[in-house]
Amino acid sequence: MSAPNSSFDPKQVAALNEQAVAEMVTSALAAIASASDLAKLKEVRLAHAGDRSPLALANREIGALPPAAKAEAGKRVGQARGEIKQALDSRQAALEAERDERVLVEEAVDITLPVDRQPMGARHPLTTLMERVADVFVAMGYEIAEGPEVEAEWVNFDALNVPPDHPARTMQDTFFVGSPDSGVVLRTQTSPIQIRAMLDRELPVYVIAPGRVYRTDELDATHTPVFHQIEGLAVDRGITMGDLRGTLDHFAESMFGQGIRTRMRPSYFPFTEPSAEVDLECFVCRGESVGNPERPCRTCGSEGWIEWGGCGMVNPRVLQAVGIDPAEYRGFAFGMGVERTLMFRNGVSDMRDMVEGDVRFTLAFGVEA
Ligand SMILES: [Zn+2]
Repeated sequence: MSAPNSSFDPKQVAALNEQAVAEMVTSALAAIASASDLAKLKEVRLAHAGDRSPLALANREIGALPPAAKAEAGKRVGQARGEIKQALDSRQAALEAERDERVLVEEAVDITLPVDRQPMGARHPLTTLMERVADVFVAMGYEIAEGPEVEAEWVNFDALNVPPDHPARTMQDTFFVGSPDSGVVLRTQTSPIQIRAMLDRELPVYVIAPGRVYRTDELDATHTPVFHQIEGLAVDRGITMGDLRGTLDHFAESMFGQGIRTRMRPSYFPFTEPSAEVDLECFVCRGESVGNPERPCRTCGSEGWIEWGGCGMVNPRVLQAVGIDPAEYRGFAFGMGVERTLMFRNGVSDMRDMVEGDVRFTLAFGVEA
């Protein structure tokens, strides 16, 4: 036995005896077992395993023991702390698992519940296509021009050099408002907007005119009595057919991709001279389907070219009709059917889908602002 320790405190060292340590463990284990959630367990951890817990305090007294008793007391306290730590860890794991399970149940979303969200409308693809075309030309300095859908026969036909006996001017093709001699029609083309643009504006004139037009066609897969055209007009000094060609090539590339070519075939329209049909190089096969039965192309019917619209140099008689001197000014004009463009651009096979107003058709083109 060693000599008595002068700083020996019987009360504190009593905390290190076997029974006292066992009681600390029992009390800690009971508190751990009754901790009902993670917050309570945190309190228990602090009280029974923290720096100020009875075991930690008892541990500090080991140094005060006689050397022979230190090892035994140290072992006892170490085991007790280990036991408590294990109980804390396992209770922690159990409570965390319980919480996770509860969160999964409480925060579950019933995806079968009906929502009361209003579906967002989509703009009609014809509208967005016309705006996209207009954007291409506005970027080149063109203005957007508009005109009335109920139009004077003179503007719709006479000013455009369509003579009174032209077959287009019969009731078989044209909707007359009132009697056939009323002089008022539903415009059959967007070209009357050209006449109005030249009458209203100062020269030079650069306009792009999208609009709705009317013909007495029955509605079927490829015809509709109400459809849309987009028409361009440039009147300036020194305008040539080369300007027209360059403009159409730029237009084609903007709509159908880099490197898409156009070609012109001689044609006839009363309001242009010379006149041409504009064909677009097939933007799907780029001509590779021609004479190649292995790789047929639905978009161009393996022709390599798609008929796109009409164009030409503004007929001097049209310029004269609106008071422009054809010796000083020249112009070009071109026009395309918007429905037709949408059909081959987006693979729409039936024109009726465009007029029926079924939102399922419209939505397929995306919700474009
Ligand atoms: Zn093709």
